[in-house]
Amino acid sequence: MAIAQLHNNIMTTKSTITIPTKTGLDLKRIFNFSAGPATLPEEVIKQTQQDLWNIAGSGIGICEHSHRGKVFDKVLAEAEADCRNIANISDDYSVLFLQGGASMQFAMIPMNFLSSGQTVDFLHTGEWTKKAIAEAKLFGNVNLAFDGTDSKFDHVPSASEINPSDNPTYTHYCSNNTIYGTQFPEVPSTNSPLICDASSDIYSRPINVSKHAIIFAGAQKNLGPSGCTLIIIRNDFMQSSSAKVPSILDYKKHADKGSRLNTPPTFAIYMIGQVFKWVLNQGGLTAIASNNQEKAAIIYDTIESSGGFYEAVAQPESRSLMNITYRTPNDELDKKFIAEALDNDMSGLKGHRSVGGLRASIYNAFPINGCVTLAQFMKDFAASNG
Ligand code: PMP
Repeated sequence: MAIAQLHNNIMTTKSTITIPTKTGLDLKRIFNFSAGPATLPEEVIKQTQQDLWNIAGSGIGICEHSHRGKVFDKVLAEAEADCRNIANISDDYSVLFLQGGASMQFAMIPMNFLSSGQTVDFLHTGEWTKKAIAEAKLFGNVNLAFDGTDSKFDHVPSASEINPSDNPTYTHYCSNNTIYGTQFPEVPSTNSPLICDASSDIYSRPINVSKHAIIFAGAQKNLGPSGCTLIIIRNDFMQSSSAKVPSILDYKKHADKGSRLNTPPTFAIYMIGQVFKWVLNQGGLTAIASNNQEKAAIIYDTIESSGGFYEAVAQPESRSLMNITYRTPNDELDKKFIAEALDNDMSGLKGHRSVGGLRASIYNAFPINGCVTLAQFMKDFAASNG
């Protein structure tokens, strides 16, 4: 084929391609109670569909832009600015968007801040602190300032249950325990720099950043798709590290390069940025928190008023507004519940394998009518199986 004709064909093909939004948006969506990756705001998904094709009139989709080009410069700058705006993060802190998941933070934190002979205090509240403890032990000593093992992690510690060591280098806690469905009602007080794994409740309520040395969160519950971890780190704490670590695991190097030490997860950062805008549009964290309380109350009230048919896993004062863990009278009924819920367009209600039972994860973007639908289903299920 002559080159001129080939060129004509290509040009014709290009100009006739349209974004298949209509078909995509017409397909049915169901209520997704998954613990993560989880439900995202519909507005964000729709905007993403367009920006995947052509972002900001550039003629290039978000995933196809260079991470050092002008379009992505703007995406990253806005994501950071909105992130700071949402939680009033001062210039004393750096905001980083890194890869490796929250699990990489379990390793990176002790690698940078804990050395042989030093001790880290842990408030041990379940699977996610267990994994972080194992990593910390590779670098220094671990003191369990609280150990929830004996109470099967059914609550987070009250102030009187926390026994700090004399001179811990830092204290690590997990603000919301995705698996057990427990959540700290307040930031715990400690005698050392505080590090928070906020993977499953970041930006679900107002957050006092200034009480923390580091807050980190995998994105895939409240912030966006998987593949990116948000890290909010106090600069003086970051500078206190004298550990020799590979560049890619060094907070200072990432901060120096504004999260672009290497190619960052550009698409995830773009979507997180969209979610930040959505959070601001909802009225910020106070409005988000009140919505989350209302949503969780619908399901907890249904558990409480079921005459004992449903039993909550977590103690009342520790109950999570994000992950509601509960059981029917037996495993068989749990299975039946999950199957019938799916028949009714509700998915992801199976409890984590280490706890069993049921778990409804209702992060920020999960709609309130999904909670109402689940509550009604729970009542009907109890009536026909109780
Ligand atoms: N911390 C918490 C509280 C979590 O819920 C999870 C994952 N669900 C993790 C850490 C691990 O996250 P990642 O898979 O991103 O490493």
